[in-house]
Amino acid sequence: MLPVSKTFGPDAVRAAMALGLRRFGENKVQEIRDKAAALSDASIEWVVIGHLQTNKAKDVARLASEVQSLDRLELAEALHRRLEIEGRSLDVLVQVKTAREDTKSGLPVEDLPIFLQRLQAYPTLRVRGLMTLATLSEDAEEVRACFRQLRELRDRSVAAGHALPRLSMGMSADFPLAIAEGATEVRIGTAIFGRRS
Ligand SMILES: *Cc1c(COP(=O)(O)O)cnc(C)c1O
Repeated sequence: MLPVSKTFGPDAVRAAMALGLRRFGENKVQEIRDKAAALSDASIEWVVIGHLQTNKAKDVARLASEVQSLDRLELAEALHRRLEIEGRSLDVLVQVKTAREDTKSGLPVEDLPIFLQRLQAYPTLRVRGLMTLATLSEDAEEVRACFRQLRELRDRSVAAGHALPRLSMGMSADFPLAIAEGATEVRIGTAIFGRRS
C-alpha cells in the first residue's frame, strides 16, 4: 500500500510514520519540497504519482525515490539528464491511460511496446511496472475493465521480455476491484488521511 499524503501537512505524515509508514505518494513536486524540508530529520521515500512537467525534473531527481507517472519520452529524457548530474537513479512506473475520460493523463495503450523499448536508452530509470487510474464510474465492471487491461498489458510486456513486476492500481474508492485484478500496490489517500478539502 502506498499512502497518499497530498494536501495533508507534515503532522499527518508524522502520525502515519508512527504507524510504520515510510513511503508517501504526492502529486505536486512543490508539496514534496515543502514536506521534505519540514521533515528533513525523518527518513522518507517520496513517490511522485501526479502529472509531471519536465521543468520539475531537477527537484524530482534530487528529492524523489520513485515516479509512478512517467508517460512520455520528453519526461524520461529530462529526468535522466538530471539524474546523471545527481549521480542517482529512480524507480519508475509507466502510467498508462486505461480510462475513457479525456482529462486523465497517461500513455496511450497502443504506444506502450515502443515506449518500453525506448526507455532502455535511459539507464538511470529503473522501469519496474505500470500504473493506471481507472475510469470514474458507478459501474464496477467498467472500473474493473481498466484494471484488467493494465494487467493484460503487463503480461504481454513480460512476454516480450520486459521485467515489470509491479502493478500500481486502485485508490480508496476502487481498491478491492484492483486487487481482484492483480494489483501489487494500491494508492490510498482518503481512506487513511480523511477527505481532502
Ligand atoms: C490522490 C490520488 C490517489 C489517492 O486517492 P484517494 O481516492 O484519496 O485514495 C491515488 N492515485 C493518484 C494518482 C492520486 O492522485
